[in-house]
Amino acid sequence: MKYCQSCGNKADDDAAFCQNCGASLGEQEFVRENKTSSQNSNDTLGLIAFVFMVLGCIYMGFALIPLIWCIPMTIYANNKIRSGEPIGVGFKVCTLLFVSLIAGILLLCRQEKE
Ligand SMILES: [Zn+2]
Repeated sequence: MKYCQSCGNKADDDAAFCQNCGASLGEQEFVRENKTSSQNSNDTLGLIAFVFMVLGCIYMGFALIPLIWCIPMTIYANNKIRSGEPIGVGFKVCTLLFVSLIAGILLLCRQEKE
């Protein structure tokens, strides 16, 4: 048996409100509920952060895919330049579009030997 803190009326232990004055009797319960709801919002924030981190990982993974062609194209162009062989216009345009805008323009400006 517990007593209402507002009016002193006797109340059942499991009663949430005083039957006499209507004051809340479950103060501890109320505090615990607040903690639970803040825990819930923490969980939600964590979940959202996790989702964004997964998306970030996927995005970073896609950002790495250009390396698959960027590195071979760079090596190919370097070999051609060093050996003095002409580089095709198509390759230069691809370099401009997919590897480096400046490098592509520079390659296009180069005078290729006939
Ligand atoms: Zn009361």
